Amino acid sequence: MSPGGPAIYLASGNLNKLEEFREMIESSGRSIDLRGADGVGGMPEVEESGLTFEENALIKAQALALLADEKAWVLADDSGLVVDALDGGPGVLSARFAGPGAAASDNNRKLLHTLRGIEPDRRTARFVCVLCLLRKGSPARYFTGKCEGHIMSTPSGNEGFGYDPLFRPVGFTETFASMGAAAKHQLSHRGKAVAELVRFLDSQAFTGT
Ligand code: IMP
Repeated sequence: MSPGGPAIYLASGNLNKLEEFREMIESSGRSIDLRGADGVGGMPEVEESGLTFEENALIKAQALALLADEKAWVLADDSGLVVDALDGGPGVLSARFAGPGAAASDNNRKLLHTLRGIEPDRRTARFVCVLCLLRKGSPARYFTGKCEGHIMSTPSGNEGFGYDPLFRPVGFTETFASMGAAAKHQLSHRGKAVAELVRFLDSQAFTGT
């Protein structure tokens, strides 16, 4: 996509998330005019009541698209941790696994407690990120990224956020929280979903007009 492509508004009030998406787009070598939700009036409060990452991403994208004008593109994301031994949980409940407003440390403690006694080879899990690209009156497009890994039995590392201290990606000896942000972006669910988005924006299928 040329640098003159359409503006895309990120359906999030979190400026760190905007910055992180911009960094991932930049490292893909593409130029996308990604703007904050403030550009269309600010991200409204939404209830993330969906049963899937797709549903929650759509809820957020639709909420911002309602405020934006007809031609504006909106991008929303939803992500979480999917643990096989928990039948896919905590999934869409990842942020509030230990209860509403839970701190990451509480969620991690609950995850360790719930998985106690489960052997290392049955602690398989993946981070999933779904992006939803939307414009009023157009069907939503989804881009998914996954990163496979294992849940460790003790936390390690001080970087990142959420479940990073417990998640060791396949092929690595350290957790997400022990590798630098650049290394994490290379293999993370979010980085892969952004790569899919960039591929679409670059393709003939997207005119942007
Ligand atoms: P969100 O949809 O990006 O707000 O993510 C929901 C929750 O999933 C976060 O609060 C974290 O608990 C978890 N999560 C998503 N992505 C990551 C990650 O890259 N590292 C650690 N935890 C994550």
